[in-house]
Formats: sequence, structure tokens, C-alpha cells
Amino acid sequence: MTTAVRLAAPLLVMLLLLSACDRPQPVYNSRFLTFGTLTDISIVGVTHERAMRAVETLEDDFAIMNKAWHAWAPGPLTRTNNLLAEGVRFAVPPSVLTLMKKARQLARQSDNLFNPAVGRLIKLWGFQSDTLEDHRPPEKEAIEKLLAAHPTMDDITIDGIHAKCSNPAVQLDFGAIGKGYGIDLAIEHLKEMGIQNAIVNSGGDLRAIGSRGGHPWRIAIRSPSGSGTLGFLYVSGDESVFTSGNYERNYLWEGKLYHHIIDPRTGYPAEGTRSVTVIHDNATVADAAATALFVAGPKDWHRIARQMGIKYVLLIDTDNIVHMNPAMKKRVQLMDRNQPVEISAPLTDTVTADRP
Ligand code: ADP
Ligand code: MG
Repeated sequence: MTTAVRLAAPLLVMLLLLSACDRPQPVYNSRFLTFGTLTDISIVGVTHERAMRAVETLEDDFAIMNKAWHAWAPGPLTRTNNLLAEGVRFAVPPSVLTLMKKARQLARQSDNLFNPAVGRLIKLWGFQSDTLEDHRPPEKEAIEKLLAAHPTMDDITIDGIHAKCSNPAVQLDFGAIGKGYGIDLAIEHLKEMGIQNAIVNSGGDLRAIGSRGGHPWRIAIRSPSGSGTLGFLYVSGDESVFTSGNYERNYLWEGKLYHHIIDPRTGYPAEGTRSVTVIHDNATVADAAATALFVAGPKDWHRIARQMGIKYVLLIDTDNIVHMNPAMKKRVQLMDRNQPVEISAPLTDTVTADRP
């Protein structure tokens, strides 16, 4: 949306933190609406004016990205989707091209469990709409027809700034990656503006750089019910924490919950997982991976995480068992000491931290 709503603008809390060397550091907090969710930005250690200017720039950036990658409001992505369906060769809008390439690479790495070419399926399920009221599952035949067409990113040939699609069933939906890419751009932008300590948090998905007054950022992992806290972890330096959960967008139909993460193999909402949290240095990869591992589920997440180069994973399955690799276990403090936990084999061969 071009007129991103700035809530309580600037919602400013000038807190005084004690830094490692006991000098107080100002913290600037601001919040605005983008990608259909609230984005919170905290900036530490620069003047109020600099932080405010930086947030204004980011808010403008997010508004542009939100418009460019919106799956159903007319804009660069809907134009791209029309041209992909026509099968003509066309110059890809610049705001779409880079994400298209990145998405294709991540789709391949995930064995297409993260598959942004299934926009038609997502639309069929009703998740390309502003409200989920009065929604019901689509007809089985309609799902099967789309599955038979087997849309993937490999149906798109990219040649320089041009693209051409050989499968009219392909429609791009960047819902599982756009927020991550937006957060990466925001953090890179902040760094360019000389800001070294900050956190950009969009609806619970975030990337943090530096520290909060010399202390690591403390991140709460949301309980899979969507409210409450499952546990905590700490990040410092430069890391992203992304969660995909079935509580985010869903509707009930005849007593059954239908959620927004679709298994491209079955055409139905992915089963077996309640939520997945990953930590990775890059937010774009973390975003796509959280979605892919959600689809992969308790049996296959480990293999897909390795293929995608993810080193920290926490998955809660539908029996409420928490699956983690050893390195993740070392970083997470679970609230419930009696929580059933299953520790996997290490995800990496070389990182000694990933040992039981
Ligand atoms: P959230 O946006 O709630 O953080 P995700 O990052 O997992 O959650 O993104 C879910 C969105 O991604 C859906 O709303 C839909 O637009 C899209 N999507 C759903 N299933 C898939 C899939 N298997 N691969 C790629 N995109 C998907
Ligand atoms: Mg995602």
C-alpha cells in the first residue's frame, strides 16, 4: 500500500540503555503497517533525528515493495503473472526480476516444497484475499487439475532482463519470501546509513544486527497456538529468525482448520507441522526455508534444511513434539521443562556446535 499507515507516528520510546561500557545508549522504536502486518523497527545508539530519518526511508521502501509484490492488487507482479500465463517473451519489471531469480534458486534447493509458482493454488484456496471470512475449501477436481499442470519456477526461462514461461499454470506468489527479502533490504539500507545496532521485525519475523546496548537481542519464539511464548533465544551480530505457523492465516470449515501453507505435492494445506522456526544469516533464505520445512514436516525437514544450508531449526509437529537439531537446542530456552523434545542428527558436518 502506498500510504502505509504509520501507527502512533513516530511511536517513539527513548529508552536509556546501559551499554557494555556503562554509557547510556538511546533506543528508537517505530512501528508501521506493511505486507499486511505490523513492522517494528528498533535502532540503538544513534540520535533521535538520524533514527527517525532512517525509519522514514524504510517505510517508503516497504510501501514500494508491498505494491510491487502484491499477489492480487494490480501492480508489477499481477502484470508479470498475466504475461507469464500468455507465454510471451517480456521484459520483467525490475522490482520483480531479482526476487524471481532468488525464488527460483530457493525453490530448487527445497525440492519445490517452497514453490512460489503455485499462485493459482493459493488463490483457489482463498488465501489471496484481504479477508478469510466465509471461505471454504475448493473442489477436489479443481485442485487436481492444477496439480496435474505441475507449475514450477523451472517453467520460466530467464534471459537477461527477459522472461518467458512455458506453462500457463504458473502464477507467482511471493507470500513466503517477500517479507524476508524486504527485511534484508531494510537491514542493508540501515547499514549503509551507518546504523550498526538495529532490529527489523515484521509480524514476528526478523533480522537483527549488532546488539542492544552491548547485550544480545532476546527473541521470543511464539507458541504454535499463536499466542504465548514457547521459548527464547538470543541473537547478536547479524542473524534472522523466521517462523511459519498454521496459526497465521486460516479458516475453519466443518470443524477442520485450513491454513495458508500449501503442500505443492498434494494441493492441500501441509499436514504434520504446527510451526517451524529457523535461524539463518539471510532473511530471504530464512523466510523461504521456514515455509519449505513446514511443508517437509517432521520426517523430511532435516534433509531439506541441509539442502538449503540451514543450520538451526525448531519444528513443532501436530503431536506437539519439538524437533531440533543439536545446535538449535543449545540456543533455545523452552518455557516448559516437560515439553517433549526430539533432537535430530547434526545439520552440518563441520560445525562442532551442532553436536549433541
Ligand atoms: P507468513 O507469511 O505467515 O510468515 P510464510 O512465510 O510461510 O508465512 O508464507 C505463507 C504464504 O506463502 C502463503 O500465504 C502463500 O501466499 C504462500 N505459500 C503457501 N504455500 C507455499 C509454498 N508451498 N511455497 C511457496 N509459497 C507458499
Ligand atoms: Mg516463509
